[in-house]
Amino acid sequence: MGTTRRCLGCRRNDSKDALLRVVAVEAKCVVDWEGVLPGRGAYVHPVRKCVGNSLRKNVWPGALKKANRLDVTELENWEATASHTEMAERLMDLS
Ligand SMILES: [Zn+2]
Repeated sequence: MGTTRRCLGCRRNDSKDALLRVVAVEAKCVVDWEGVLPGRGAYVHPVRKCVGNSLRKNVWPGALKKANRLDVTELENWEATASHTEMAERLMDLS
C-alpha cells in the first residue's frame, strides 16, 4: 500500500493516494489537489462523510497547528459540493 496517512474524519489509516491533502496557507485551509504545496499537511478521505466529520469535530486547527484561528471555508464548500458528486457515484453503483 506504500505510504499511509490517517484520515481526520474516520481516523483510519489509508494509502496516501486515497486521501486528500490539506495544508494551512496563512490561516486558511487549502486543499492541495496536486500534492505540491509546502508546509504541514493533514489528510482526509475525499468523501463527504469524512470531510463533514472532521469539520464537526473541529480537528483542523490542531492538526495544522493553527490553534488560534483557521479558516476552513474551502473544506466547507467542498463538503457542500461533494455531496452531489458522491450521490452521482452511488447512483452509478446501483445501476
Ligand atoms: Zn476517512
